[in-house]
Amino acid sequence: MIISTPKARQELEALLQDCRTLFLIGCGSCATACKVGGEDEVFAAQEWLEASGREVTGSLILDEACHIMRAARELRRFREQLDEADALLILACGAGVQSISDCTEKRVLAAVNSLFVGNIRRFGQYEEKCSLCGDCILNETAGICPVTNCSKGLLNGPCGGMEDGCCEVETDRDCAWTSIYQRLEKQQRQGVFDRVVAPKDWSRKFKPGKLSLERSIVDNGREKHR
Ligand code: SF4
Ligand code: SF4
Repeated sequence: MIISTPKARQELEALLQDCRTLFLIGCGSCATACKVGGEDEVFAAQEWLEASGREVTGSLILDEACHIMRAARELRRFREQLDEADALLILACGAGVQSISDCTEKRVLAAVNSLFVGNIRRFGQYEEKCSLCGDCILNETAGICPVTNCSKGLLNGPCGGMEDGCCEVETDRDCAWTSIYQRLEKQQRQGVFDRVVAPKDWSRKFKPGKLSLERSIVDNGREKHR
């Protein structure tokens, strides 16, 4: 899921200086789980805006703000309230904000900052495990991602700063490469340690990323997604 945090109220206040009427949009998925864009947060934003003398013309929580077609369909149901608003305040991740800006000419304002794609440890505790590099080496690193879990993203073992198995950047955290080594040892495998890993092929981290399952081409038995 996309992990996000709310923008500071002062930042929003500056952003909203020339907006008197607003329509609020939250997201029932990641933004709700992160407590930045669910019902409670949209309601709190409405109270805050009204207390500052602004009018909220309406609000809507999309099931998944990142679904462009569904967002467009939902927004059509609120055309009048949207027309009355100077801007739309979006309580969702950057992907959600851009779903909305894709389907309206209205000014769209982001109320949150998107941080990373996160795993859920338990409710309210999120951890980055994968940086979506497009060139996965987990099969050789015992299922622990060095690109993400090593503070320096090293690909060929630990840096010189590792001490007693801990990372020099965050000393209360295990060094990712120590964890990789220990797990491979338990599995009695060499894994990534039997070769020198070449620099990452960042060309696979193509931006903007696109994947169309419908248009996948089978080329010599290999499926291509680009
Ligand atoms: S190697 Fe790349 S794709 Fe694999 S988990 Fe790490 S960041 Fe994600
Ligand atoms: S101590 Fe380990 S996890 Fe920390 S930066 Fe060095 S290699 Fe990476």
